[in-house]
Amino acid sequence: MEKARGKPVRRLCPRCRQPAIWEGNPYRPFCSERCRLIDLGAWASEDYRVPSTETAQPPYEEDT
Ligand SMILES: [Zn+2]
Repeated sequence: MEKARGKPVRRLCPRCRQPAIWEGNPYRPFCSERCRLIDLGAWASEDYRVPSTETAQPPYEEDT
């Protein structure tokens, strides 16, 4: 008996670059919930990134 359902569709997870099953995957395009959360977290942290206020460098003293 032959199965004519074809191969499962796989896509590379944009997060970890592992082949992720596409069909029936609630986390697509990611391979797992973990990768999805990591990606969302990355976007969130990018969104809420505070501007660097590390300007505590002393001014140069030029000897003229
Ligand atoms: Zn992944």
